[in-house]
Amino acid sequence: MDSFDIFNPVNIRFGRGVIGEAGKIARRYSNSALIVTGKTSMRKTGVLDNLIGILKSAGVDVTVYDGITPNPTTAEIDEAAGIAKQKGVGLIIGLGGGSPLDSAKAVAVAAKGDMPVWNYLKTPATEALPVITIVSTSGTGSEVNRYSVMTNPETGEKPGFGYACMYPKEAIIDPEITASMPPQVTAATGFDVFVHILEAFTGKIRNAFSSAYCMQAFYLLRDNLVRAYEEPANIEARGNMALASALAGLAIDISGVGIMHALEHPVSGNYPEVAHGAGLAALAVPSMKYNLEACKMDFMLIAHHFGIKRAGKSDDEYAYALIEKTEDIIRTLSLNARLKDLGVEKDRLPKIAKEAFSTMGFAIQNNARAAGEAEVLKILEESY
Ligand code: NDP
Ligand code: MN
Repeated sequence: MDSFDIFNPVNIRFGRGVIGEAGKIARRYSNSALIVTGKTSMRKTGVLDNLIGILKSAGVDVTVYDGITPNPTTAEIDEAAGIAKQKGVGLIIGLGGGSPLDSAKAVAVAAKGDMPVWNYLKTPATEALPVITIVSTSGTGSEVNRYSVMTNPETGEKPGFGYACMYPKEAIIDPEITASMPPQVTAATGFDVFVHILEAFTGKIRNAFSSAYCMQAFYLLRDNLVRAYEEPANIEARGNMALASALAGLAIDISGVGIMHALEHPVSGNYPEVAHGAGLAALAVPSMKYNLEACKMDFMLIAHHFGIKRAGKSDDEYAYALIEKTEDIIRTLSLNARLKDLGVEKDRLPKIAKEAFSTMGFAIQNNARAAGEAEVLKILEESY
């Protein structure tokens, strides 16, 4: 029996309208905050202005950095950290999807220290400014975990990192903020949740806690992802997907991700216009086929919980039914693009395969089935 530690210090506040409490919550940490957000969506939906109003009426001084792009770069993070330092803020508030939330954690580290954020990959951070996450997508789980993913714009490398000081102090999960996601964002981010569940549930360092989170996230996702995609204003489906995202985010915080994330990071690192979830969808079926033998029992269990009838199927066929179900979901969500369709150049595949090891080696190691560069390249070619 393997031993393990479970640690997650994030206060999670969930419910419709809970963004209204942001001022009171922020005041516990500081009277001066930097909001880290994306370029468009939070301003366009009015959420940013609403948040600024809520913070100001609680007596919190607000500075806004709204330069975070999807698949954020180290340059953006360093720029925001420079502003945080210059203003002397005592709190970082991430507002948006995984990209602004991941950035907020990295900004919190870089604003406390005196190195470019990239250096913290090698030199562990022990201190960070407090972070509050206010999430607008239901995907990454970044709202509740310590991870941050950033891209080096010069090399295309896109590693994930996460130290204990990077846990958000507070996560504000208000499903109303997610209701403005257009269907393609709902699809891509929701598929990310599915892959977090698959990878944390089948990874080598899984344990009873992460599996429990995965199962509950799975039930919520099974019953709500397509509903949220087809009925964007369905607040119950939005709320359930927000819970699924957070639960799966806790699961990967405990048990990590696997080969699909190891391969996807260098894809969207080299091609930042590729949405993380869309890249995962292109890689999912070949990766699951690769993992099939090692994950047979788990795939059968998930197939069963999808309600797929066993009816005379062998173990192999029943496990394979999960892969067919995944293909089905990908089609239903219009995520059925190959790497080629996403703009990936064929001659870039060997670089992507190398970076899967150099930037996401821990995810390859956690994958249910061992893989070397040749196997990884083959999965990439099958996904092309
Ligand atoms: P993003 O945060 O990149 O957002 C994707 C797009 O959706 C952006 O254009 C954004 O607009 C828009 N958007 C976000 N919320 C809304 C909304 N409510 N209404 C309308 N539009 C919206 O997407 P993800 O959440 O998928 O984050 C992806 C990043 O997270 C990647 O870098 C990925 O690698 C990382 N990641 C992190 C993990 C972790 O554990 N920390 C795990 C998995 C992935 P705008 O740009 O204007 O804000
Ligand atoms: Mn992910």
